[in-house]
Amino acid sequence: MWAASVLTIFPEMFPGPLGLSLAGKALANGVWALNTIDIRDYATDRHRSVDDTPAGGGPGMVMKADVLARAIDAAGDGRPRLLMSPRGVPLTQARVAALAEGPGVVAVCGRFEGIDERVIEARGLQEVSVGDYVLSGGEIAAMALIDACVRLLPGVMGAEASAGEESFAAGLLEYPQYTRPQVFEGRPIPQVLLSGDHAKVAAFRRAEAERLTRERRPDLWTARPAKPEKTTG
Ligand code: SAH
Repeated sequence: MWAASVLTIFPEMFPGPLGLSLAGKALANGVWALNTIDIRDYATDRHRSVDDTPAGGGPGMVMKADVLARAIDAAGDGRPRLLMSPRGVPLTQARVAALAEGPGVVAVCGRFEGIDERVIEARGLQEVSVGDYVLSGGEIAAMALIDACVRLLPGVMGAEASAGEESFAAGLLEYPQYTRPQVFEGRPIPQVLLSGDHAKVAAFRRAEAERLTRERRPDLWTARPAKPEKTTG
């Protein structure tokens, strides 16, 4: 079973949103497992300290390497060990898909100014970022990562298994979607979508996805995979 272990000083934040909707149903049905590890349980002093002042001075506090290492060891071997971190490699749909194919993740959630560099090296933590902005802790980042993985697990999206058509699947953003009413505040649904002509619908959607990607994400447009060669004969 795909299993996520989350290391945090706020275990009460979980499952939180992961306990509802698609991810929550899958959790209840045993499609995946969630285990929170309270980092404080691995402190050794009577104040259960997990942080200390930064070597070299400066503002804030740094999470202690020794305490974190014990918490990480408690999560066991065999799964990628991720540190949620604004310095990390950006999380992409391709990375999410690769993680969903594996046995699960161990996700370390930082707090304060961050964590002692030595535990990143000593425990081989892979730093992963959810975007170029700074959160106050890694928990929301870990939830985003786990949610994105879980919806790709077999059976989670069920009949709506539309992952292959979604944003980023082909290096493109998703085409616009419409549903009833046929006219909303004077705006009709594009005629082609009501035509029943599947080839025309597919061509329209493809063109719209390409237009949106060119306009909004020139970076994705330039990097998109080349179209598969047409086979002849
Ligand atoms: N001083 C650090 C920021 C610490 S924010 C710096 O300048 O890089 C506290 C914690 O929030 C981090 O340790 C990390 O676990 C989490 N976090 C903040 N922003 C994040 C992001 N964009 N992606 C993933 N985790 C993030």
